[in-house]
This record gives sequence, C-alpha cells and structure tokens, in this order.
Amino acid sequence: MLTRFHVDLDALHHNLQVARELSGGRQVLAPVKANAYGHGLVPVARSIQERRSAEWLGIAIVAEGQQLRAAGITLPMLKFSPTLPEELAAAIAADITLSVGDLASIDQAQAAAAAAGRMIDVHLKVDTGMRRVGAEPDEAAALARRIDAAPNLRLEGIFTHLPISDIDEGDDFTTAQLQRFHATVDAVEAEHGPVDLVHAANSGAVLGHDLGRSNLVRPGIMLYGSYPDVVGARPADLRDVGRWTSRVNFIKPILAGETVGYGRSWVAQRDTWIATVAVGYGDGYSRQFSSRGRMLIDGRSYPVAGRVCMDQTMIDLGPEPTGVRVGDEVVLMGSSGDQRIGVEELATVMGTITYEVTCLITERVPRLY
Ligand SMILES: *Cc1c(COP(=O)(O)O)cnc(C)c1O
Repeated sequence: MLTRFHVDLDALHHNLQVARELSGGRQVLAPVKANAYGHGLVPVARSIQERRSAEWLGIAIVAEGQQLRAAGITLPMLKFSPTLPEELAAAIAADITLSVGDLASIDQAQAAAAAAGRMIDVHLKVDTGMRRVGAEPDEAAALARRIDAAPNLRLEGIFTHLPISDIDEGDDFTTAQLQRFHATVDAVEAEHGPVDLVHAANSGAVLGHDLGRSNLVRPGIMLYGSYPDVVGARPADLRDVGRWTSRVNFIKPILAGETVGYGRSWVAQRDTWIATVAVGYGDGYSRQFSSRGRMLIDGRSYPVAGRVCMDQTMIDLGPEPTGVRVGDEVVLMGSSGDQRIGVEELATVMGTITYEVTCLITERVPRLY
C-alpha cells in the first residue's frame, strides 16, 4: 500500500498526560469513537489500556464497543449517544455503559437489564444548551428517582455537553451551562446522595474553562494533537499524532498550455514536470484540494495541479529538475524537512474542522503504529 497513516502513540500518550494535568488530576475518559477520530479504534484503545493512560473510553455506537471487547479491551466504556431498544441487549452483553436522557430510555434499559439478569450502570445525560440529546435540567431529579427505583439500574454518572467551549466568544454561554449543570447535579444529589461520576468537559473546556466540581473529563480532539477550533489560542503543548504519507508513482514533462486531469481545469503556464501521487478522494484526500492543496517531498512544497482523482493526484514539480523520483515519499499531512502541513491547514482548505479531516481517511489506508 503506497498511502499510509502513521500514528504516533507516544504523542497520543503525551497529549493524554497534558489533558490530565490541565484537568487537575481528574479521571480521564478518552473518546475513541469514529475509529478513534480516524486513528484506529482497537490499536488506540489497546495502547491506552496497556499504558493505563485513561480510566474510561468513550464510544458512539454499539458496534464500536463490541469490536473493543472482542479485542480484549476491558476498560469501562461510555456510549455517548442514545441507544434504541433493539440495540440494548447487544450493548449490555458488551458491557457498555449506557447514557439515558428520558423516561422511555430508562424503562427500556431496565427491561433489557432485567432480561439479561444483570445490574447495569447508566449515566444521566442532561441537556444544558446543546439541544441535541438528553434531559431538560428540571427533569433530571425525577429521572434520577426513576433510575433509583429501577431494580436493575444504578446511577453511576451524570453529564452534559458543551457546544461552544472552544471559542472565547462562547465563554458566557459555557459558564452559564456549567452553572445550570452544577445546580442540576445538586438537585439530583439532594435526593439520591453523591453520584460517582460528574462530567462535562470536552477538549475546549479542558483547555479553557474552570471544571468546577466535575471529577471526570472527556477530551477528544486534543488527544489526537489538535485544538477544537482552527483559529484560537494554542495554550497547551500538544504533539502531532497522525502523519499521512503517499508515494510518487509517475513523473512526466508537459508543455505550456497543456491541461492536467479531469475537467481540464488546470492549465500549465510554462513547460513543467508533473508527478502523480498515489492518493485520491478514495483514500479520504478531499477533492477540495484540487488545485488548492499542497504536498511535501523531501522538505519542499509542491502545489496540487488539477482535480484530485479517486486514486491519484497530480502535483506540479516545476520546470527545473528537482531530484524527485518515482517511489519518493510524499507527505500529505505532517512534517518533511523544515516544512509542515498541519491538520489545521488541511481543515482550512477543506472548509471544515480538524475532526473531519482524519475521520474521512478511508479504510483502505493502513494505519501504522
Ligand atoms: C466527541 C465527544 C467528546 C469529545 O469532544 P472533543 O471536542 O473531541 O474534545 C466529549 N463528549 C461527548 C459527549 C462527545 O460526543
């Protein structure tokens, strides 16, 4: 395989350590949903388990939990998203901790746990402003009562999520959310007694907010080496985790006025050399990079010439011999000599956030650790 995604697990553990320090020693839940943000679900989780660098894992779908259990991962894992009734038996069998956010989900979890003959832990999700999933704050105490009354359920955690914790202009909103959340936790605990795990912070909050009384944090993107937004301050010493490379597979000279690639959208302004690189949108190298992206070879930067194809992309080497040869390594994301293409740069050209850049790297790209 010519295109590869290299994952530096030492850098991941360094970033986990940074998150832990910024969180004042609170427990850390490492989100590994979506194939560990594209970095490889099982190898990332296994490494976290072996090095004991997080207490919890976070997942989005039941299949992720099943895959982790099948690979021998025994860490507790919280499923962030709601679970439909027909998924519950499999989730419980995989020992996935469920989020619940309304009466129906509590009753369904109770029924499924009873059917499995098990006592299970649940975390109550409170919606303090995301308006996505979870209970209204003023319903939380009643829902906690329902959980306490359910013979097969134990209320292990209570949590919320923060949609704008990464942006300075969102500070007031986030602070208000955290206040509402803490008031909700107080109301629940007044009847229930202390809840073991109280959590709210994603990367943005770990990097920029007072975490108050919560005792667990859920930093995702920062573990993978980037910041939740592409423009804000860069306060922490995070290391790049992913490095994405391919190889040159053909080089040819073309004449001024000739065009390169589909749609003939790129026209050579002078005689030049074109190298073809063995990567395309079939690997997750976005078509947004057509004539707008760049790649690095041996510490030098070359612009993408014309449209990104499914399996190949052309770059303009320029009119002079550069020493580039078929087989040379091409850096799509990462460093080469003094040059670096950060995931933020790719995200900016794609018009998206760093999360999506690595999530979109497709299955056919081997992850190397
Ligand atoms: C994905 C996710 C996180 C991690 O968010 P980052 O912005 O990557 O730090 C935390 N909590 C929940 C509920 C999530 O879905």
